[in-house]
Amino acid sequence: MNPCFAAEKTLGKLAKWLRILGFDTSYESNFSNSTAWRPADAKRIFLTRTQSRRDKTSSSNLIFIKSDHLFEQLKEVIQTLALEHKDTRPFSRCLQCNTAIEAVDKDSVRNAVPDYIWETHDTFRRCRRCRKIYWPGSHTKRTMDIIEGLFTDKKMG
Ligand SMILES: [Zn+2]
Repeated sequence: MNPCFAAEKTLGKLAKWLRILGFDTSYESNFSNSTAWRPADAKRIFLTRTQSRRDKTSSSNLIFIKSDHLFEQLKEVIQTLALEHKDTRPFSRCLQCNTAIEAVDKDSVRNAVPDYIWETHDTFRRCRRCRKIYWPGSHTKRTMDIIEGLFTDKKMG
């Protein structure tokens, strides 16, 4: 299962985390012109916390997020769609612009990252669109633990 999402402005953290999980997620405030953002895009599942938007959108294409807490919000999405751990592709997508990132040669980023990062890391990935460079950071293990937690404890708190 490979769903894609459109998150409203109030759900920025949730949008970022769906990108961390590898899901194609457009985010309202990434667009200066509101007409460019169409949550009604047929294939996107609209994520909202706004009751009036809920009323206007066909329910099959919308998840109404109830929790204030990021972790619970993620679980709401996962449980509503019955997503499984194998549906995720962590760290495969740019957190800034939602584009797939690709592995690049270490030498090709020599001057694009701080020296101490280049010297201590061997794998780098780069966004095809905004050129942002990613490397495995100290937070990666913690992030993986959080993702693990999303799929191991199925009950909502
Ligand atoms: Zn990017």
